[in-house]
Amino acid sequence: MLEFLFLLLPIAFYSGWHSARKRYKKKNSDLTQNKPLVKGINYLLNEEPDKALAFFIQHPDIDEYTAETFLLLGNSFRNRGEMDRALKVHQNLVARPNLSQSQRRAAMFALGQDFFAAGMLDKAEAVFKELLKKSTDGNKQACKPLREIYEQLGEWEKAIEITEYESDKSDESNRLIAHYHCEIATRALQKGNIYQVNEQLKLALKADKSSIRVKSLRGDIALYEEAYAKARKIYFDVIKADSRLLGVLFGRLLEIADKTNNFEKLYNFLNETYQKFDENAVLEHLLEVANKDEYNILVKNEKPIVALIETELTHRKPGLKTILQALHIMQKLAKENDCELILLIKQALEKNLQGQLRFQCQHCGYKMNDYLWRCPVCRNWDTIAEATI
Ligand SMILES: [Zn+2]
Repeated sequence: MLEFLFLLLPIAFYSGWHSARKRYKKKNSDLTQNKPLVKGINYLLNEEPDKALAFFIQHPDIDEYTAETFLLLGNSFRNRGEMDRALKVHQNLVARPNLSQSQRRAAMFALGQDFFAAGMLDKAEAVFKELLKKSTDGNKQACKPLREIYEQLGEWEKAIEITEYESDKSDESNRLIAHYHCEIATRALQKGNIYQVNEQLKLALKADKSSIRVKSLRGDIALYEEAYAKARKIYFDVIKADSRLLGVLFGRLLEIADKTNNFEKLYNFLNETYQKFDENAVLEHLLEVANKDEYNILVKNEKPIVALIETELTHRKPGLKTILQALHIMQKLAKENDCELILLIKQALEKNLQGQLRFQCQHCGYKMNDYLWRCPVCRNWDTIAEATI
């Protein structure tokens, strides 16, 4: 695709040249002035990007037509990952004195994008801030990349500030602001600063009344304060509202079950949730709880659990992790003779599952081991769920 874009450059180049040609023709019909542009096109067609680059940089005249071509050339270098060349083109363009206001803005924006793509976030920030400062007509185009820079750096206060400045009060902006407050709250919780956690959660709720993350963090506060029954109830409510979060909260629910020596509540909750949502991930965790010997769940609920497994294996398409949990249970219930084969199947499945990552972005497919509220690849919020294996 990127190669394809680069191939289009000569066309864009030509179009710039063509526009320039028309303009000059109007003026004095003298096309000889555009000979250098033709030379530039030839360099690109002959795949000599350095010569094309040198040509552009040394080209004395940049008018409204050629500036566009210049911009596109730099963007194409960036898309090909050739950051040095992209930066040279755009820096040179920004330095030209005779650009119109909109051309200068486009050139600076492209330069900021180059710095961002090259990982030079401080320089990208400076360019976008400058752009925002110079924008006298209320253009807020630079807000979005600035927000992404602050997200990447974990500078949540600045992210809030820029989103509020940019804000069209849309649901999306409010959802982001709520996440940023939750990020600050999470940090405060790690330091045990419950007052700050609560303050941040209030602000998050103000931005997004329905934020499930705020609820989940309230559960974390209760867990931190060892109010286990309260934490459990909150987590159950969170999962009822969004079953996707079972994966990240399951470990905390196991901890609560351990601390309170009450495993039935978790088992019953998962059972109800499974009946309601009919989701593979819920079944897997339900069987995982049944497998814990110390919980004694299997002994007390052998018949319904075996019936459940039989139904699932017969009529559904359970994931590999669920099948593995089912095999664990069968192994525990099996007679000596059956056991060896079950053990072999179990080992084969375990090998198959080794190294599989637990969570996956539902937007771009990126997989990870730890739950994240924001995908590090496509940078979307709330798109991570347990990977279906
Ligand atoms: Zn993603």
